[in-house]
Amino acid sequence: MTESWGQFKTFDGAKFETLDPEFTKKITKILGGQLLTSCFQCSKCSAGCPVSDKVNIQIHEVMRMLLFGLEEVLQTDMIWLCTTCYTCQERCPQTIEITDILFGLKNMAYKKGIAPLGYIAAAQSLYDTGRLYPPTEWEREDLGLDDVPELNVEDTKKMFKKTGLLKLQEGK
Ligand code: SF4
Ligand code: SF4
Repeated sequence: MTESWGQFKTFDGAKFETLDPEFTKKITKILGGQLLTSCFQCSKCSAGCPVSDKVNIQIHEVMRMLLFGLEEVLQTDMIWLCTTCYTCQERCPQTIEITDILFGLKNMAYKKGIAPLGYIAAAQSLYDTGRLYPPTEWEREDLGLDDVPELNVEDTKKMFKKTGLLKLQEGK
């Protein structure tokens, strides 16, 4: 494992004691997870990953944690630092849909409140204002632009409700 670049801590020295076959089974049922158990740990995915020197655990190690049923995988920063370039998925000799699995892991982690603060703040801002980030007024002033108008967030809130993000935001 390499030194952690994101907000999550390194797993160096950590002991994992709960091997949960049900967790592995659960992953085989999410989008892309169907071929998970055919992973033979060749590391070809990690060899082509552009963020391999930025994460606290490599993508082939993520796959191994999934095979072992280690739910601690949701605390890896690979889930969030993945650029979704799909290189790993293209390279996998077992045609495992690795990147798609990562999307599922991201959803699972978010539901448990495990996410970088920037993501949570962006989701909250989207819910409250309809924007991911507040506009920088001084830049607009410098450019001679008018104030940014308020947005009607009713549709955004409906989207949160339909996708389940509303529940997550309210911690239900
Ligand atoms: S490339 Fe595929 S088979 Fe090889 S370690 Fe990665 S996921 Fe497993
Ligand atoms: S999709 Fe993500 S995990 Fe796969 S190679 Fe790209 S950055 Fe790495």
